[in-house]
Order: sequence, then structure tokens, then C-alpha cells
Amino acid sequence: MSTVIPIRAETPGCTDVVPLVERGQREVFCGLTGIIWLHRKIQDAFFLVVGSRTCAHLIQSAAGVMIFAEPRFGTAIIDERDLAGLADVHEELDRVVGQLLARRPDIRLLFLVGSCPSEVIKLDLSRAAERQNQIHHPKVRVLNYSGSGIETTFTQGEDACLAAMVPGLPASTDTAPALMVVGTLADVVEDQMRSLFDRMGLQVSFFPPRNSQAMPVVGPNTRYLLAQPFLADTARALQSRGAQHLAAPFPLGVEGTTAWLQAAATEFGVAPEVFEQATAAPRQRAEKALAVQRQMLQGQRIFFFPDSQLEIPLARFVHRELGMDLVEVGTPYLHRQHMAAELALIPAGTRISEGQDVDLQLDRCIADAPDLVVCGLGLANPLEAQGITTKWAIELVFTPIQGYEQAADLAGLFSRPLKRRLKLAA
Ligand code: SF4
Repeated sequence: MSTVIPIRAETPGCTDVVPLVERGQREVFCGLTGIIWLHRKIQDAFFLVVGSRTCAHLIQSAAGVMIFAEPRFGTAIIDERDLAGLADVHEELDRVVGQLLARRPDIRLLFLVGSCPSEVIKLDLSRAAERQNQIHHPKVRVLNYSGSGIETTFTQGEDACLAAMVPGLPASTDTAPALMVVGTLADVVEDQMRSLFDRMGLQVSFFPPRNSQAMPVVGPNTRYLLAQPFLADTARALQSRGAQHLAAPFPLGVEGTTAWLQAAATEFGVAPEVFEQATAAPRQRAEKALAVQRQMLQGQRIFFFPDSQLEIPLARFVHRELGMDLVEVGTPYLHRQHMAAELALIPAGTRISEGQDVDLQLDRCIADAPDLVVCGLGLANPLEAQGITTKWAIELVFTPIQGYEQAADLAGLFSRPLKRRLKLAA
């Protein structure tokens, strides 16, 4: 008997799609934004942005909705006076790091995060991290990555951060295959996923871990599932350590979650009845909850601007499980291999765009007059002013949306703006 629950697309899908490629002005956050969810995940880490007042302002305002007793991020502001000499900047950075670590003995992993002001670009942060390691290792490990708006967009900051950690992961000495889930998940979602794998008899490690002292091991026996679609560099780094990717759709919605879990179950030879027992109850609960949301969303036309790289999995979910019509699905970057299982489930003929030329895309959007637009904060207000209902893409990244228990909440993120619009019109 096959262990695979077949998931069929009614159409040939978009596997061979030729996207509309645009390389113009874009309206996307930089990779520093990832610090907002990463600092909540790795509880003994600290993210020190080496940047300007603009960077400090971005981080503060993006995190402003949350209150922390002890923040796990900060900005070392490099301003004009430092242009006088790079040696001074290095000394200044050493002093700031020394002060920080003396004041915060709970920090065990420190990230120096690069940004795009010209003063910072001139700094070699990898050398600075090496120097800091000579001073503070083994008590504190210092790593660096770039969140610069020139090199990264929005979710690519997480990719750069995780990729920086991969070379330091302990080597696995086992030969038996071991499962790893890669990509930041909210703790509540991680617990649910662990419990589902437990019920299938599978042990699983999560990367990034909640604590830097509990880094997962990696090696040729590692089989990894991506929990997030924006981890191209991390995947490459894991593969260079011998790990093998398990191809699957992403765990969004009932269908995506089932297929994602199934990819691991198949790889590890979990019996179909064990898989069914483990997943049936949460799956049915989620299906029931989604049916309510579908009544509101069925037939509504949706347009995705490119922001987080979650757009294609989200489009698959809203189309197949909520009956929404896809007007355009924009993605900052189309990773054919990681998106293969998703593209196969998107209806053939869907307009998929890669990259952005924001003016052209806005023109298309306004001409198409969709019922709902998923876009960045900067585009939401102008579109709302034109009478178009919007959803901020950033909320879809900050909110726990993966897995069965979150499927209805995810659908709610799309139905709420439409309900609000109806109330305003009433
Ligand atoms: S890294 Fe660059 S784009 Fe991001 S906040 Fe700083 S200056 Fe702005």
C-alpha cells in the first residue's frame, strides 16, 4: 500500500510557468526586519545591527508593537564622525560589544548584522566577528551576516542569519536518517509539529533552535523539511554539510500541512494507518474551521505583490482551500526547485511575476481591480485610498500561520479586511 495521500491538481498546474520578470524600483523591507522574529526564537541570542539611525528607527518601529522586559536586539550607530578612520570604528565596535556582553551575561550568541550605509559597507564585519570571537569565545559565539537593503529583502535576513549558523552546527556521527525542520516557527507551532511527528514515531530537530546551546547536529544522514520558502542560502549550506532536502509543499493550510508531514512520513517509512491516526483529528478540525472562512472568501479575486516569498504557497492555499481567484501572484524571487511542489498546484495560466517594477505593477493592479491585495505597508495606503482592500504582507510573516491548528487563523487574515470593508460600506 502506498504511504502517500495523493494530492491532485485539477489542472496541469504552473510547473513550467514563464513568470513575468521585472527588475525596476521595488517597495520591500530590507533583511533587518527578520530580527523581529529571529530574536524571539533564539532566546540567548542578541542581534547587534551595525548601522545608521534609519536602521535603528526601522527596527524600533517594526518591533514597536511588542513589549519586552529585556530586548534582544540593538543598533550600534555608525555615523559620519566615524568616517575619519576605520580603525576608530573597529575600536568603537569592540567597545560597544564589550559593554553589551558585560551588562548581559545571558547572551551566548551574538550576531553582528550589517546594513547598507556606506560607512558600514566599508567595514569588514566577518573580520570584526573573528576578532570578537578571539576575545569572547567560548562563553559567547559571535557571527555576522548582512541585513542590508542592497543585498537582502525582508525575509532574506532570516536566510542570511541561518546560513551563517550552518558551518558551526555540530557534525552528526549517526548513520541512521534523522529529520530536521528548517526555518523559524513560532514556539507554539513548533510544539504542535513535534507532537505530530512524535505520534508518527519520528524524532525531529528544529533549526534554528530555541537556545544556541542546543544546536541540532547535521550530516549526510540529515533529511530536512523547509518550514519557510525563503531559505535558499541556508538550504545550500546544509547541503554542503551533506544534508538532503525533502521536497514538499509548505505547511500552510490543511493540504500543505498534510503533504509536508507526508514527505517526512514517506521518507521514514511511517505506515499509512499510523500517519492517518496521527493527523486525522487536527486535520478534520482544521477542515471544519476552514469551511466557515470559505463562505466569505469563495470567488473573491486576490492580487499578491512580491514581499516575503510566501506568496506562491499562500496563493495555492487561498485558491485550493478557500476558492479565491488568483489575479496575480508576485514573488521577489522564484526558486524553481523549492517551489516545484507548490507551482504544480497553482492553476495553469495564473499570472506569476518575479521581481518588481512597482509603478507597472500598481498599474496592472488598479486595472484588474481585485477584491483583496496583499502588499507591503508602503503600498497599502495608496491602494486603500483608491478603494482597494489590502492586507499587509508583514502580518503574514509575524503571525503563526503554519500547521493544522493555524489554518483557520491564516484564512482569517484574508477574510478580516474584507469584513472590515463591508462594515465600513454598510
Ligand atoms: S539596512 Fe539599509 S535599507 Fe535597511 S534600514 Fe538600514 S539603511 Fe535602511
